[in-house]
Amino acid sequence: MPACAWRSSPWPRSPRAARSRRTRSSSGVRHWCRWTGRRVTPSSRCCRDQSGGAGESRSRSTPPGSGGQDLGCRPVDGVRTLLLTITGKDRPGVTSRVFDTLAGYGVEVLDVEQILLRGRLVLGVLVSAPRDWRALHADLSAVALELGMQVELEHGAGDNTHRADGRTHVTILGSPLRSRAVAAIAGRIADTGANIDRIERMARYPVTAIELHVSGADPDRLRTLLAVEAATQRVDVAVQAANLLMRGVRLVVMDVDSTFIQGEVIEMLAAHAGCEAEVAAVTERAMAGELDFEQSLHQRVALLAGLPESVFDDVYRDIVLAPGARTLVRTLRRLGYRFALVSGGFTQITDRIAADLGIHFTAANRLEVVDGRLTGRVSGPVVDRPGKAAALRRFADEAGIAVAATIAIGDGANDLDMLAAAGLGIAFNAKPVVREAAGTAINVPYLDTILYLLGISREEIEQADADAGVTTPSPPV
Ligand SMILES: [Mg+2]
Repeated sequence: MPACAWRSSPWPRSPRAARSRRTRSSSGVRHWCRWTGRRVTPSSRCCRDQSGGAGESRSRSTPPGSGGQDLGCRPVDGVRTLLLTITGKDRPGVTSRVFDTLAGYGVEVLDVEQILLRGRLVLGVLVSAPRDWRALHADLSAVALELGMQVELEHGAGDNTHRADGRTHVTILGSPLRSRAVAAIAGRIADTGANIDRIERMARYPVTAIELHVSGADPDRLRTLLAVEAATQRVDVAVQAANLLMRGVRLVVMDVDSTFIQGEVIEMLAAHAGCEAEVAAVTERAMAGELDFEQSLHQRVALLAGLPESVFDDVYRDIVLAPGARTLVRTLRRLGYRFALVSGGFTQITDRIAADLGIHFTAANRLEVVDGRLTGRVSGPVVDRPGKAAALRRFADEAGIAVAATIAIGDGANDLDMLAAAGLGIAFNAKPVVREAAGTAINVPYLDTILYLLGISREEIEQADADAGVTTPSPPV
């Protein structure tokens, strides 16, 4: 027998009295709707007044709480409601049968959630309570029995529980994603007094990604707390305030070397000059924040003097994008996102990448070329650590996108200002100094996992590709 949790009546004994203010006038009794503030008369009373009077006779076609005529009132505390939970093996038509049954009682639908997990359906429906709730329960039980499912009814009052302020999205990425890690992250969220209201899987490939909708949290405090737990559990966690900015067009600003592409262009150039190891050693120290970037750049570029200009063609042919880079750009361009490459590397390479992939903005250093050969100098101002942050702000302004709606992705110490300036700064397979400073770190080598942080599921990515006649690359490219 399906469970029915009857609670002692939490609503006023005389709902009509509770819902309308009454005053005397020369013409008699006046009523005002408690929710709309409108004056109403006994013959044209507000929907809530019509539905709630204890002891009124009602038919199944106009049950209590069903609303009758809707005059624009919102569901409020005190209205009798029923929470129905239907669970079991999914089959075609379950939702239709449940709502057909509810329709027979004319109840108002206040909230619905339905999920499907490996063929098991969980359907929750919050409705206004009809007077003859026992008959509704019996009818729903008969439908559930016929469908091989279970139904539970719980009485209550009012709308769905109001979610606390401080809405946050927490995305967890793991490969594999172990239950111990989820337990630890959920535990830290609980420690702050916040609540997990909803959990949704975003992807199973190339990593498992789940998104937690959290309420009652301070995003900054939660981000700090979960960053420590993520490192302990060896998973990636992103914490973002849930607001309208998440849904609008955004600007993605990407570092190039060891972020958008694999490897460092300056080392690829140095290989042609026979000094790759020497340049790589300086690059490593600069990216770790141990050397001044501009000084180290001039030092390394000087070693390239004399290389023929054709070296750019050779290097460009050898460039390999980070796994998932094309999927990231292709998918977000469909949504109207704007992209920028902001690099401490060189325009002779970044401009070509941008042209090939349809990237909107670039900022990088220009290697000076005279008479077809590199001079070993950089022409123009150097794009260094503050220069990268300035470029982010400039491109956001040109694109008409709020800086708070920007996403910056980088791996080196020269990306730190840019990551801090962006609305969402992501350390991507970053050096320790960057990983520790950034609010969000991705340590799997797939750039398209950033899509999951933006609330885009693998299913949606693949469907968009299929619609365009493209097969989503696997493994990611
Ligand atoms: Mg880099």
